[in-house]
Amino acid sequence: MPDHPQAYRASLLQFSGPSGHYQYFADGLLIVRSQRILACGPASALLARWPEPLPVTDYSGQLICAGFVDCHSHYPQLDIIASYGDQLLDWLENYTFPEEQRFADYRYARHQAGQFLQTLLQQGTTSAMVFATVHPQSVDAFFEQALALNLRMICGKVLMDRHAPTALCDTAETGEADSRQLIGRWLGRGRLHYAVSPRFAPTSSPQQLQRAGQLLRDCPGLYLHTHLAENRREIRWVRELFPERTSYLDVYDHYGLLGPHSLFAHALHLEEQEYRRLGESGSAVAFCPSANLFLGSGLLNLARMQHHGIRVGMGTDIGAGTSCSVLQALHEAYKVLQLQGQSLDPFRAFYLATLGGARALGLEQHIGSLEPGKEADFVVLDLQATPLLARRIAQARNLKEQLFALMMLGDSRAVRATYVSGTRVHGC
Ligand SMILES: [Zn+2]
Repeated sequence: MPDHPQAYRASLLQFSGPSGHYQYFADGLLIVRSQRILACGPASALLARWPEPLPVTDYSGQLICAGFVDCHSHYPQLDIIASYGDQLLDWLENYTFPEEQRFADYRYARHQAGQFLQTLLQQGTTSAMVFATVHPQSVDAFFEQALALNLRMICGKVLMDRHAPTALCDTAETGEADSRQLIGRWLGRGRLHYAVSPRFAPTSSPQQLQRAGQLLRDCPGLYLHTHLAENRREIRWVRELFPERTSYLDVYDHYGLLGPHSLFAHALHLEEQEYRRLGESGSAVAFCPSANLFLGSGLLNLARMQHHGIRVGMGTDIGAGTSCSVLQALHEAYKVLQLQGQSLDPFRAFYLATLGGARALGLEQHIGSLEPGKEADFVVLDLQATPLLARRIAQARNLKEQLFALMMLGDSRAVRATYVSGTRVHGC
């Protein structure tokens, strides 16, 4: 009975608008029909005026919010998470590149994509922007699994034609041709989106970056997904490779890769002019504090991003990030900002994890809140999930303190259930 409404009773938290005003119903009711949110409000009022009996799933005492949005991750790196001891460029060579070569095997890619998506759902993450590998079949594997689960996901083939093992290199020509085939095969199917995905400036020739820009101009609706200014050695390398450009971001800018559908992961070490161009061009940034700490890369300056009007979402950046949980990304973000004399208000944090992430990906018309009409992707959070969390919640004097405890102490154990398009895909 897909058209019969289904209701969920719990505390409800959602955000609206670019400034992230919050709305909270301590005893709320979320009504879902035909994969979309039909109503969201106080339980007593909605139940009293509803014209017919409603089947209600009772999650009283739990908190429902929109499904988490992970703005930057690498599905092929799930199994190299927590690999010891290097900074970015060595880490790529020693761990990432050997593992990514295994994705030439379609069956392996398909298995890993399935594992990755299950892991996301266990964390309450319902949408993500994800790197595959250079192999087109790694993208097919990911999209097939995401389509079967009816997930809203963004992925694309890595473009990489130099400074990587031969087995992981395409050419400017094959990279473009393979991307066009994948776009033809997947664009517009289900809730899937395609991202043109040069790994980062050092591994793409000027010809490849040129073709990436051409792809974006030729096919409206594509995303651009890449890395920017993560590590100081990387930045020096970009300067050597592109001496004619004024900055790292200027390399991407020169090839037409900035814009409202462009997302840059990290953006840690930027000049004033780069902040300004990111803001002017409407580009977005993925804040990946776990990976930034793990690889010793640096600290994202959120206040400066906000000052320049840059949209920011949270990223786990698996496998350099050490947790697949967006809650844990908020935990690390809080500490990263503390080190810079900034703070992360818990309401702001949950905004970044939901509607803020959706806005960074330009998907706020579809996901990111519990507003009627939106796709029914949501997560049920258990504030008593662990003894320590329960103890801290018992001491919390208000919602703000509850949310702070949840983001500092919560992880997949706090995810009671995850719903995608109104169907429960994890938990109970
Ligand atoms: Zn990354």
